[in-house]
Amino acid sequence: MKIVFNQQINPKIQAQLSDELSKMNCKIKQWAQHVVFLDKSLPLAAQTKLSSLMPEIISFTESAWPLVASVPKNTNTIAERLIIAGPCSIESDQQMRLTAKAIAAAGATALRGGAFKPRTSPYDFQGLGEIGLKYLHEAARAHNLLAVSEALSIAEIPLLNDYVDILQIGARNMQNFPLLKALGKINKPVILKRGPWANYKEFLFAAEYILEHGNTQVILCERGIKSFETMTRNTLDLAIVPIIQAITKLPIIVDPSHAVGVNFAIPAMARAAIAAGADGLMIEVHPKPQQSISDAKQALSFAEFASIMESITAIAGA
Ligand code: PEP
Ligand code: MN
Repeated sequence: MKIVFNQQINPKIQAQLSDELSKMNCKIKQWAQHVVFLDKSLPLAAQTKLSSLMPEIISFTESAWPLVASVPKNTNTIAERLIIAGPCSIESDQQMRLTAKAIAAAGATALRGGAFKPRTSPYDFQGLGEIGLKYLHEAARAHNLLAVSEALSIAEIPLLNDYVDILQIGARNMQNFPLLKALGKINKPVILKRGPWANYKEFLFAAEYILEHGNTQVILCERGIKSFETMTRNTLDLAIVPIIQAITKLPIIVDPSHAVGVNFAIPAMARAAIAAGADGLMIEVHPKPQQSISDAKQALSFAEFASIMESITAIAGA
């Protein structure tokens, strides 16, 4: 059994817990930052007693993902339904301003855009860097939207901290453990995208890394996985929504854009994600979709995005 704490276990908590557990004839197998691993399961009466003595205890669990399974829903960090829209890459000030205005009018809650791009080829556009983050930040503020952008490595975290409200970790970095540990030390929500090769367990363990290092504001994002199919960019695995919701209270959003990679299929998949119970969406939108520097095939127009928003409002209200 594991005991989960709402804060880093300090020497005072450590001493009190050791003392109480020894009275209960229970041994400690391992200390982690927020979790204590015990050598056996404690009966309910003992759990109740410990909880009353130590208000720092969140839960007792047998789960392999003690924090993912125990952390209460953090309603303060994100809107009830997090709808993130914006271009794949930040390209210009005007592009971001136009996009922010259009998506805010359609009901989105956050503006996205990559300033540091994880491109398959080193010869493709790598992103505008800091000036891009400035465009994103200003456009988002002007329309009361949250700003979302990707950190490719630990080195970019301080810069992103200055300009964005939510940091995004790309699919390719899902198991970049030093990066996950560093994200645990920041005080901002983190969107963790599922690796295209990763099963649910690997995804949950990656989230557990961020939580264990102190940041409980993790938002999971399904963005499609590799399969034998070639007509879509990836295969959208919507079963993850109810499965993850049965295991954890962490919000899970869906990115249908990178999942299917072709613009005409995105609205149907966005509606399906909301019908499946997703806590939000991430959708790539561009003022001139065909002219997008990156991911042009999956970019939607403002009108297409507004029409998705109308249809998901009807589904969510149903
Ligand atoms: C993105 O959202 O900009 C992106 C690169 O997506 P992914 O990491 O899911 O490929
Ligand atoms: Mn993209």
